[in-house]
Amino acid sequence: MVVVEAFDRLLAAMPAQLQTYTLEKLRSMGVEVLFNARVVDAEPERVILHDGAIIPAHTLFWSAGVKGAPLAEALDIPLKPGGRVPVEADLSLPGHPEVFIVGDMAYLEQDGSPLPMIAPVAMQMGIHAGKAIKCREQGQPAPLFRYFDKGNMATIGKSAAVAVTQGMKLKGYPAWIAWLLLHLYYLIGFRNRVVVMLNWIWYYWFHERQVRLITEQESMRQ
Ligand SMILES: Cc1cc2nc3c(=O)[nH]c(=O)nc-3n(C[C@H](O)[C@H](O)[C@H](O)COP(=O)(O)OP(=O)(O)OC[C@H]3O[C@@H](n4cnc5c(N)ncnc54)[C@H](O)[C@@H]3O)c2cc1C
Repeated sequence: MVVVEAFDRLLAAMPAQLQTYTLEKLRSMGVEVLFNARVVDAEPERVILHDGAIIPAHTLFWSAGVKGAPLAEALDIPLKPGGRVPVEADLSLPGHPEVFIVGDMAYLEQDGSPLPMIAPVAMQMGIHAGKAIKCREQGQPAPLFRYFDKGNMATIGKSAAVAVTQGMKLKGYPAWIAWLLLHLYYLIGFRNRVVVMLNWIWYYWFHERQVRLITEQESMRQ
């Protein structure tokens, strides 16, 4: 497996110590990591990099960012990168206090940088919009949104992850357990949590995946 990274390090939002751990862990798992390399094209049998280098590959996982829902394009306003709609500090659409935009679609800067397109931002924005609507109904002005960064986590592989929260750094097995528990906690409904946990335990012990894709072979497509 080859990881292609356009930047000169992995997990840019993490402290250097956790970046180094991630790189060493991936290499120990047999993963080749290329830095300062950009994918410019992908074909069924190969991936092409900015310098013309070719990586023979059948499967490409794209993880270089998400895009806001195309619904934003219906608005007659200039969008920000990623198809995001610039919003007011209370998350309402400029000129339309009755419209709120939350999650990936909303572009808001905090402390000089745009808020990232990640689930915690979307969740906090959703809660805020609900409160803002309630305030408006009671004749009060909508409060301003401020994102509270609880930290960052990334899973690297089985029993390996990195996490940083409030200055505390975790790596390896403790970070992996923290990642699992937090993701279970945020699932909606007790039943979902139990089902996902049992699936994970099953996969951990028996290496049997829950989802398999059976795809048509090239020769059968005529
Ligand atoms: C592969 C992948 C991995 C990710 N991993 C992480 C991660 O590990 N951690 C993390 O924090 N974030 C992660 N993210 C980002 C995270 O999923 C998003 O930031 C988050 O889901 C944004 O929430 P949202 O409600 O804005 O949008 P979404 O969760 O995308 O929900 C938008 C919903 O609106 C629906 N919709 C769109 N257009 C219309 C329309 N016209 N009418 C009606 N419905 C419509 C969509 O079908 C969708 O259900 C990941 C994203 C991807 C794609």
